[in-house]
Amino acid sequence: MFEREYDSPMYRAALAQLDETARRLNLAPDLHERLRHPKRAFVVSVPTAMDDGTTKVFHGYRVQHNLTLGPCKGGLRYHEEVNLGEVAALAMWMSWKCALMGLPYGGAKGGVAVRPWELSTIELENLTRRYTTEIAPFIGPDIDIPAPDMGTDEQTMAWMMDTYSMLQGYSVQGVVTSKPILLGGSLFRREATGRGAAYIFERACKTWGWNPAEMTAVVQGFGNVGSVLTESLDELGTKVIAVGDRSGAVYKDGGLDIPGLLAHTRDNAGLVKGFPGGDAIPSEDLLLLPCDVLAPAALGSVITEKNVGRIQCKVVLECANGPTSPEADAVLKENGIVVLPDVLVNGGGVTVSYFEWVQDTEHFFWEVEEVDARLRKIMTRAFDECKNLAQEKGVSMRFAALMLGVSRVAEAKRLRGLYP
Ligand code: NAD
Repeated sequence: MFEREYDSPMYRAALAQLDETARRLNLAPDLHERLRHPKRAFVVSVPTAMDDGTTKVFHGYRVQHNLTLGPCKGGLRYHEEVNLGEVAALAMWMSWKCALMGLPYGGAKGGVAVRPWELSTIELENLTRRYTTEIAPFIGPDIDIPAPDMGTDEQTMAWMMDTYSMLQGYSVQGVVTSKPILLGGSLFRREATGRGAAYIFERACKTWGWNPAEMTAVVQGFGNVGSVLTESLDELGTKVIAVGDRSGAVYKDGGLDIPGLLAHTRDNAGLVKGFPGGDAIPSEDLLLLPCDVLAPAALGSVITEKNVGRIQCKVVLECANGPTSPEADAVLKENGIVVLPDVLVNGGGVTVSYFEWVQDTEHFFWEVEEVDARLRKIMTRAFDECKNLAQEKGVSMRFAALMLGVSRVAEAKRLRGLYP
């Protein structure tokens, strides 16, 4: 049983994973039960002054899954499909991810149900400032530290930091991460999630004897994560044969010209549509193309019972959060497709967010080489821990990652005991 408020396909998927992980860990029932429920959830109205003089009220959410290992951490998503259940699922996954990466954080997530691309810059700023004001009592460098996710970026974080700082009366750099460098952001944070995913792929290639230069890839999503991953794959010699985003998808048999595609999206509001260096294909065909590496880097729940039987890759590199339903995950395993799971693959973002928070706390900023080297070390260590546990227990990489993350949070809860 769980709270009806959270009911959604994503939350059900997150719970199904947790329940299965708890079973494999033989987790004490009281600890298991405590992990199934978010610690706190906030639902806020976000009245926003629009450019035409009207006021529109959007719905915003912030869910804090647990604060057992430290303050909680998680992104802020602006997307029309955001709802409380999705945010709660994403917050739970953040808990396992932070613990897997060895970071002193619990998991959180936020979101506003909005189509951000339909708002002007002023409207987005109004929305962000009002949302921040509504959740301000519940965030802070020692409480809960937001970061960008789908539909939000460095500018969103700058507005959040400014709003929170104005309420406090002084500059609080550590309240959000992935800020502009000038405001206390970390070098390499923007690249961190995509690069981190590429480091996992590189380690998998080294471990299992794959040659990245002989492989092909398909990437769904060409935003912060998808574009950096695509560039990194291109540098590894992997041929990216297709990419897609909310505007459409492009395909080229011999591999897309990635620098050309990046230049095209820069001049085209970030969108791949209209790229002359490939053929336009229907978006729904993208995930079904034969390839070696399939990297979902956009929305969740894109590999489901409906399409999993037609997926023709060798490896799924889960850059998005929750891209594969539990049912589809089982089919991928049956079909011999290796799944490198989200909590591992996209953990580079929160890892460099942690570095940023440390730098903000110390008011001492690191060189890019140091950030990158530390990121690679943490990603490689996390991959190796998952691979070793997967081998030892005969489980998938997903369950190895979840077992590591969940067991660390559970053990911290056991050590702290239950406050009456
Ligand atoms: P973003 O907003 O920068 O980019 C999102 C991309 O997805 C865009 O290219 C957009 O066009 C595309 N998209 C949106 N709807 C789509 C649809 N229906 N079909 C195909 N493409 C669609 O977001 P991002 O930060 O790159 O995040 C992408 C994924 O990575 C999300 O699942 C997010 O939770 C996850 N993630 C992001 C970070 C981070 O540091 N940004 C960290 C960990 C995980």
